[in-house]
Amino acid sequence: MNSAKHPATAAERPIELVAPDISPYRDGNAGVDYVHSFDSGKPGPHVMVQALTHGNEICGAIALEWLLSEKVVPIAGRLTLAFGNVEAFARWDPSDPDRSRYCDEDFNRVWGDDALRGTRDSIELRRARALAPIVDSVDYLLDIHSMHEACRPIMVCGVTGKGGEKSAELSRRIGVPGDLLVDTGHPAGLRMIERGAFGDPAQQRTAILIECGQHWERSAADVAIDTALRFLAHTGAVDAQWARARMPLAPSPRQQLIHVTEAVVARTMQFRFERVFAGLEVIESAGEPIARDGDTVFRAPYDNTVLVMPSLAHLKPGTTMVRLGRIVAPD
Ligand SMILES: [Zn+2]
Repeated sequence: MNSAKHPATAAERPIELVAPDISPYRDGNAGVDYVHSFDSGKPGPHVMVQALTHGNEICGAIALEWLLSEKVVPIAGRLTLAFGNVEAFARWDPSDPDRSRYCDEDFNRVWGDDALRGTRDSIELRRARALAPIVDSVDYLLDIHSMHEACRPIMVCGVTGKGGEKSAELSRRIGVPGDLLVDTGHPAGLRMIERGAFGDPAQQRTAILIECGQHWERSAADVAIDTALRFLAHTGAVDAQWARARMPLAPSPRQQLIHVTEAVVARTMQFRFERVFAGLEVIESAGEPIARDGDTVFRAPYDNTVLVMPSLAHLKPGTTMVRLGRIVAPD
């Protein structure tokens, strides 16, 4: 839905989705532009769906625009729909689709109090500071993303020992997608799904992040809408029947949980993968080469090593090229 063929900017990554016009949603009712919050007047959790944490990940914007056009309102608790990095999205250009990921810095690395309450300034920090009071009142958060490579959808469930387990449990109850990931976070800064109580296993508040597939493939929009509907139905924000009647996809027949154990970091610009990987490939035997960087060979550390979001797109010495994971709970 909402899709049509645009000229491909890269043969392997055609732009199949059309970015929606979100300007009608600028004036929200939550005191922050592009944030819409609806109170049912009945007891229940505060549930939030965010799109456009990264400005070029347009499937989430399509899903939120669709939910708003369907006039979704909560039947219990409070529902907030937020377009995240709207300034980056305003720079979206299908002829240069990677450029609008962010303006000054990655909006998904600024959610620690050290950054939010510090003195540093950026377009992303300003937006995060405006959104933080809302985020801090949310019980269940779904953050909608997509990926650089054509990988099947992944639910990123936060960090091992820091809320990752409760997020994985929520994803199991939602029933999509097939691959759930608990990782080790990013050294560059906290993601929204790790902020405050979301990252505390002792508290109930829970956040999950869906990677819907390749940024601009048609199916990413279906995954975004489907996941949002299942999330809203499961949390009780919307009527389950209303949601079921609109779900574009079937639930996943099985789900597996992958724990990220380590990252492979490029040392030089010569870093290359052994072959083309899209992500979630399983390297059967420990010791099999995964990538090379000059004389260095990176090998699978254990049998059935899973490659998590491999990409050469941001190759730079010191940058993570792929994370390696272990399947801990196959169905
Ligand atoms: Zn993203």
